[in-house]
Order: sequence, then structure tokens, then C-alpha cells
Amino acid sequence: MIIVMRHGASEENIQKVVDFIRKKGREAHISKGESHVVIGAVGETVIDPRDFELLDNVKEVIKISSSYKLVSRIFKNEDTIIEVNGEKFGGDYVGMIAGPCTIENEDQINECARLMAEAGVKIIRGGAYKPRTSPYAFQGLGEEGLKMIRRAADKYNLAVTSEVMEISQIPQFLRYVDILQVGARNMQNFNLLKELSKVDKPVMLKRGLSATINEWLMAAEYILSGGNREVILCERGIRTFEVATRNTLDLCAIPVVKKLSHLPIIVDPSHGTGLRDKVAPMSLASVAAGCDGLMIEVHNKPECALCDGAQSLYPEQFSELYQKLKKLAPVVDKIM
Ligand code: PEP
Ligand code: MN
Repeated sequence: MIIVMRHGASEENIQKVVDFIRKKGREAHISKGESHVVIGAVGETVIDPRDFELLDNVKEVIKISSSYKLVSRIFKNEDTIIEVNGEKFGGDYVGMIAGPCTIENEDQINECARLMAEAGVKIIRGGAYKPRTSPYAFQGLGEEGLKMIRRAADKYNLAVTSEVMEISQIPQFLRYVDILQVGARNMQNFNLLKELSKVDKPVMLKRGLSATINEWLMAAEYILSGGNREVILCERGIRTFEVATRNTLDLCAIPVVKKLSHLPIIVDPSHGTGLRDKVAPMSLASVAAGCDGLMIEVHNKPECALCDGAQSLYPEQFSELYQKLKKLAPVVDKIM
């Protein structure tokens, strides 16, 4: 249930509503918008909406039938903007994250960081724990990898995003990483999501391989409901009957999510297509469709990459694409 306060409602009016929500055994989440304060009453206990209508300066009580509340635009109408190292995602902004699939060694990640900084990127990506289909494939360098990407990023003033696969890794990630990525395979690892809800850093939540948009938003709700409001959604393609590309990149998720939620949605065209030559057209299409950011795999030597070389751009391809995207963004009233 969501309680919308009248314009000009006092702190005391708001506190009365909050106290009443708590008395009824629910949690109160306040969102202060430009024109209205909105209070979400989250929980399962029975509440009669009329009780709120009787309180001073309550404008409206909205019963929400969807199970997500805090991620919903009804709860918070203004876009959430997440800023990391000066790069913004959400609202008018299109942010960029780029880098290799995996941290392979000190030289490789250093070279990638140098190239990304040269191209104007402010956030580098790189996996240290890799969720590979085969147990025999390269699994990542673990904490050593995180240390390497941190050192390389610090050298070139970059922020870092990397995938956290389990709860026990969270303290490590907090030491080395600026955005904690939840991979597609872990989108519904609810215990992991609950722990990440207590973290004081943004979480990038990738869409599950076969997740509906509703399931994805519910997963985000887990993170917001525990107190972490900084969630970036990442569309990375879903599994369909089509096998011409690695996944089917669902660009329609952009307008759908933007209508339902205030959270920023970015697109990963690399995993979404699995093929280097599809990355530029899908990146341009994503920006045209109104995405709030992109995450693109770039490798200093894609043909030597230990993971996902075929979908990684050559550095010069990336720079050329980034310039084009910057020209396109203003056409759709966005800043990049
Ligand atoms: C990744 O971004 O490194 C990754 C493994 O992607 P996904 O979880 O979307 O498969
Ligand atoms: Mn990859």
C-alpha cells in the first residue's frame, strides 16, 4: 500500500502516518519527491486504507496489486540517478561501463584500463569469479584478480564493476569494487540479494536467463526492501527459440521497465548477442530506445581472450562506437 501526502504536509503529519504503519506491523519507506511525499507500507499484515484517509494531509491511498512496491514508479515517480566516479545512470544520463569479460593477468587488465581511460570511459568491468557453463573453462583469478583490477583502475582513475557470486565474497568486493554485479545466473539467488540489500554500494542486477520482467523487478525489490536503493538493472538478453545469436536481446524491456520503475536500466549488448559485429547496432538501438547506460565487453586482444573473445570489441571499434553513441544520445534528449 502506498500513502501519498498532500503538497505541504508537515513532518508531523508524515510521522503520524509512519507511526501508524509501524503500529500495524509493517515497514514504512519514505520517498520525498519534488511535489509530494510518498510513504510505502511494506509487509503482509492487514491494513484498512480508510484508517490512513482519516489522518491529516493524506491525499490518497493506493493499494498496489503488483508485488513490487519500492521499485515501482507509483512509490517514486522521479527517475533514480546513480552516480559512480562522475558517471551517471538514469534520468537524462546514459552511462558507460566497458572492459574485458575477465581479468586474465596484470598486463592484460592494465592495458585494458589504459585503453578504456583513453577512450573516455570512467568505469571498467572485469570478472574475477566467472560463472562458466563448463567446470573445465577458466574460472577467474578470484581475489588476486580483484586486486589487479583495483590497481589498474586506480592508476587510470577508473571505478570498477565485477560480479559477486556468493555471500561469502561480499566483504572482498567491498574492498576492491565500486559496483557489485549480480550475474544472470544469480538473479534469483534471494539470499545473496538479501545480503546485498545491506551494502552501501550500488548493485547492478542482470536479468536472469529466462526471467520475466516481473521476476526481475521482484529481485530488485529484495535489494531495495533491505535498504539499498542503488540498483541498476541490466538487460543482457534472454533465452528464446532463436539460436542465431547467443541470447535474444530484449530491447523492449527498456520502455517497459521505464514505465514500471524509477530504477535505471542499462543494456549489455555483448552477452545479449554473443557476436562482436552485432554489438554496435544493438548499442545504438539501446540508446535510441531510451536506455540509461551500456556495458560493453572490450579486450586489448580479443583473439587471445580467455573468455568471450568473439563478442569483445577491439579497442578502436569501441572508441568509434562510443563517439557515435555520444552523437546519438542528444537526439533522444539524453546526455552521454
Ligand atoms: C558478465 O557480465 O560477465 C556475465 C557473466 O554476464 P551474464 O551474467 O549476463 O551472463
Ligand atoms: Mn563475458
